[in-house]
Amino acid sequence: MKSRWSDGEARQFCDRYAPRHGDALAMRVYTSRLIGAESDLVMHGGGNTSVKVLEENLLGDRVEALCIKGSGWDLDSIEPQGFPAIDLGWLRRLRKLEALSDEEMVNQLRTHLLDAKAPNPSVETLLHAFLPHTFIDHTHADAVLALTNQPDGAGLIREALGDRVVVVPYVMPGFRLAKLAAEMFEGKPDAEAMVLLKHGLFTFGADARESYERMIEYVDRAESFLRTRLRGRAALGTGTGDATSSQERMGRIGPILRGLLATASGNPDQPHRRVILEHRATPELLALIASPQCASLAARGPLTPDHVIRTKGQHLFIEKPALQDPDALRSQLASAIAGYRTRYDAYFADQVRAKGVTRSKLDPDPRVFLVPGVGIVCAGKTRKDAAIAADIAEHTLRIKDAAEAIGRYEPLDESDLFDVEYWSLEQAKLGKETEKPLSRQVALVTGAAGAIGVATCIELAKAGAHVVLTDIDPDALDRARGKVAAVAGRSACTAVRLDVTDEDSVAAGFDHACRTFGGVDILVANAGIAHVSALADTDVRQFRKVLDVNLGGYFLTLRAAARVMRVQGTGGNVIVNASKNVFAPGADFGAYSASKAAGHQLGKVAAIELAPLGIRVNMINADAVFAEGDTPSGLWREIGPDRARSRGIPPEKLQEFYRERNLLHAEITGAHVGRAVVFFASNQVPTTGATLPVDGGIAAAFPR
Ligand SMILES: [Zn+2]
Repeated sequence: MKSRWSDGEARQFCDRYAPRHGDALAMRVYTSRLIGAESDLVMHGGGNTSVKVLEENLLGDRVEALCIKGSGWDLDSIEPQGFPAIDLGWLRRLRKLEALSDEEMVNQLRTHLLDAKAPNPSVETLLHAFLPHTFIDHTHADAVLALTNQPDGAGLIREALGDRVVVVPYVMPGFRLAKLAAEMFEGKPDAEAMVLLKHGLFTFGADARESYERMIEYVDRAESFLRTRLRGRAALGTGTGDATSSQERMGRIGPILRGLLATASGNPDQPHRRVILEHRATPELLALIASPQCASLAARGPLTPDHVIRTKGQHLFIEKPALQDPDALRSQLASAIAGYRTRYDAYFADQVRAKGVTRSKLDPDPRVFLVPGVGIVCAGKTRKDAAIAADIAEHTLRIKDAAEAIGRYEPLDESDLFDVEYWSLEQAKLGKETEKPLSRQVALVTGAAGAIGVATCIELAKAGAHVVLTDIDPDALDRARGKVAAVAGRSACTAVRLDVTDEDSVAAGFDHACRTFGGVDILVANAGIAHVSALADTDVRQFRKVLDVNLGGYFLTLRAAARVMRVQGTGGNVIVNASKNVFAPGADFGAYSASKAAGHQLGKVAAIELAPLGIRVNMINADAVFAEGDTPSGLWREIGPDRARSRGIPPEKLQEFYRERNLLHAEITGAHVGRAVVFFASNQVPTTGATLPVDGGIAAAFPR
């Protein structure tokens, strides 16, 4: 590992932050970000850094303060306000206590903040406070953990890192660990670093650069030591795994796995609590998963305790998956998951009994699957959560393998792991926001780049859905994805070109959804075209084309959705964007009206056929939507002038004409249609085969 320090960058941080926050905190932000940028050091909120400063209070007294990473901040993006300042004199006095409960510790930290609005300081605050150094850096460095998670971790660490290191036995973070670490440091005051067995590494320095570069130096020593020990061993990850076919297999395994991992919600209107999946496969990972010791390593706990809240203690290895036989694969996965749940329940029961405590049990479901030939598949309530688990799982797999190669990978025992998994301060890191109506669901929208499409995707995303945008126009699709990502975040949406008239293209679009999120729960069949001409003058190719895109598109996407939803076995929703035209047709619009009426009828048939699978199919009859923000309706741009001519009005009056003809004089927007989609997709009422007009009220188009 190399130092990323740059004088130029350091100066930029100084210029940006020092005037308001002082040099020390500016440099603290800079080197914290350098650490955060290295995923072999810390991942997703892991690790913490601190600096001790003098702050002037309102009365002009200079008070010593500890500024330490606050909970909820990641080192790679931390800002000065991510470092709550606490009264250091007070924290040091706490060391005199014999014991301090976690709840009281949190209370002491919060009540001695210098700014009442600051985030909660790290759970490792007292450890930083009891050490004398101005700058302290703490990471869960992979290479160090490969050495500490061994039967003779302390011996290996001394051999690899030299004698200016304090080696502290495993103790759970909190007051007791802080006192022990301080005592051990005082026995070796010239130490430059401190290793916490089965947990991580601390380094210290008089300035930010010294502390940071010691971190890099000690991690580099651990890496070199590992490399030397691993020399001569056949390199994994070359030629044994085929990443392309693993992607294709994920498309098939995803919906099976998602279905099996869905649990009963207890709510009859939304009976399934689903998960979102994240897939990782590189030749190296596939080779690691194919190696003979993978099954045993999967069952051995995490590298560092706080990973447990993201990945659970054990990863689930699937022995010889029957990838060519979907039924056999399903029963194999089902029994593996059932076995995992049983083991988790037993672990929980054993631990609460042995400790004599009461805890409310967390869900017993696996988060990380290691599937030979497929790769790592992770589950979470969002794609972001699943991706965090996957990042950790990738590092874990590599480091366990390296650790096993130089000795024997030995994790924390279950008792210590349980303490961290059920520690209120760890669980607090996950947050407890209430879930949105469509969270944990995946929606695929056709024609997503148009005015109604993009607005629908945005409404779905706002309701918590993960969104697959599909459209035939790749450039417009890109722009639409950008708009949805601005609302939902990039990880919650994906885009793929899809031609609704092409069977293979439709299959590939759904496959993309299954590879990206694990499946599809909501289909919005929205893509459509129109053509304006009197029947007597209509060209047969034009007529067939409109039918092919509109009606054929409904059919192909509906069929594909039904197939994925059938595999998942967790119901679903199909929303057909039909038209006000279905009940109130107009002249010169024969092909369009016929295609929409037929698609509307197809939706009713689908409602009848799919109800036994818990799949609802509903129709929306919207009147003309001309644009959504800066996204014009492609359809209306094309046919607007002809429609205006058919109605005998100037084209620029068309929008006004549509507004004035409805009972409410409402202008219909894409967002209106999107909200109707969300209404159906969130199972607000037990309704299927129904039609909801979104037209401002047109008596001639009332459903009948
Ligand atoms: Zn830590």
